[in-house]
Amino acid sequence: MTTSLGQDLLPNGQTLESALAEGKTAYTLDRAHVFHSWSAQNRISPMTIIAAEGSHVWDGAGNRLLDFSSQLVNTNIGHQHPKVVEAIQAQAAKLCTVAPQHANHARSEAARLIAERTPGDLNKIFFTNGGADAVEHAVRMARLHTGRRKVLARYRSYHGGTDTAINLTGDPRRWPNDHGSSGVIHFHGPFLYRSQFHAADEQQESERALEHLDQLIRFEGPDSIAAIVLESVPGTAGIMVPPPGYLAGVREICDRYGIVFIADEVMAGFGRTGRWFAIEHFDVVPDLITFAKGVNSGYVPLGGVAISGKIAATFADRPYPGGLTYSGHPLATAAAVATITAMEQEGIVENAARIGAEVLGPGLRALAERHPSVGEVRGLGVFWAIELVADRATRAPLAPYGSSSPAMDDVIAACKAGGLLPFANFNRIHAVPPCTVSEAEVRRGLEILDTALTVADTHLAG
Ligand code: PLP
Repeated sequence: MTTSLGQDLLPNGQTLESALAEGKTAYTLDRAHVFHSWSAQNRISPMTIIAAEGSHVWDGAGNRLLDFSSQLVNTNIGHQHPKVVEAIQAQAAKLCTVAPQHANHARSEAARLIAERTPGDLNKIFFTNGGADAVEHAVRMARLHTGRRKVLARYRSYHGGTDTAINLTGDPRRWPNDHGSSGVIHFHGPFLYRSQFHAADEQQESERALEHLDQLIRFEGPDSIAAIVLESVPGTAGIMVPPPGYLAGVREICDRYGIVFIADEVMAGFGRTGRWFAIEHFDVVPDLITFAKGVNSGYVPLGGVAISGKIAATFADRPYPGGLTYSGHPLATAAAVATITAMEQEGIVENAARIGAEVLGPGLRALAERHPSVGEVRGLGVFWAIELVADRATRAPLAPYGSSSPAMDDVIAACKAGGLLPFANFNRIHAVPPCTVSEAEVRRGLEILDTALTVADTHLAG
């Protein structure tokens, strides 16, 4: 947009000139004073973001980029959705904060809307500030409910940065935080493309992964295990959609040994896979669901645990020993109410399902056929991974497990140069746009990825 004075305007009404100046200052101050997550502080050069709208962000140079990362896979409703912005503004004018021991309309209404969408009888909601603390509390509930201590989680997973959550995590970020005393034991989940079980097909992978889990439990001592924590569809670790029967098999194992099944839906929940919760694809009801991110698209920090009747009953007459000042913060829960309501009214979950089935999935599969650097594409809804390899026959990854590579850096740079902001992890590019993304935006994203994959193809071995 351009004003009568000839100045370019950003969607929020700010002039581009003033946003660029602000961005420049932001970068200088960031480098002087901001300590960033998971990073060697002197080795990073953070991208500045000066504005955002829908499926797009504007970087510090004023470039408009298609956001195929949804930031950290959280802006499910897109950037600056007017109904959510308005709800936060209205709540701020009405009541900014209340202590967790009081009842409040925004929190109660958010709890109702979430409970109505969870499967089974997960009808009580404990609110946290984000995903990691949701996982911490879910594990605490499971330990108190069962009187057991050990927790099982899979390799190739991410559950958050706090102590229990990072120890549950099955990626190298755990290693420096793992002192061998967290009570977490890791197992291999199903992942046919890189099968640990020498499986030939999805059914074999599922059966053998379940047999492995059952054996692990029997060797560890079933009576010592409180919970199994699993992302319904592992996200950061590679969007490995579980094969048919796997999650039902985990449910059956949990029931057999009296183990609590915790489904971590922090990334996969709230429309990302084309359903409210990813576990709905598998017709399984866990005992606890952890959520965050998409619940209000991260407009205000919020997470939580949805609790089954059985586990809620444990704390009916016995205090739950846990809490936090901002549990169910009014600004965050008002944003959740507006987000869930808008997603319902605007058919946003259905849009994610349709885009995945008709545009993004088929488009990525077509790219895989054309580009030999693509080992596999997999996903659901607006939750897709492109697994890049240096050699299709050996499946050698384009970056080693746990790090990046010059080849991956080139691919990411090509995405950005083409106008697309991807989510990248090790040897993978994830195509995870907002659930509101349009068909035209996805087609544009696929064109940019096509060019970036041509760059990946130049790094093939031999
Ligand atoms: N669980 C999963 C599956 C996640 O993807 C994440 C974050 O990416 C978390 C937990 C941690 O959430 P947060 O970063 O809000 O603490």
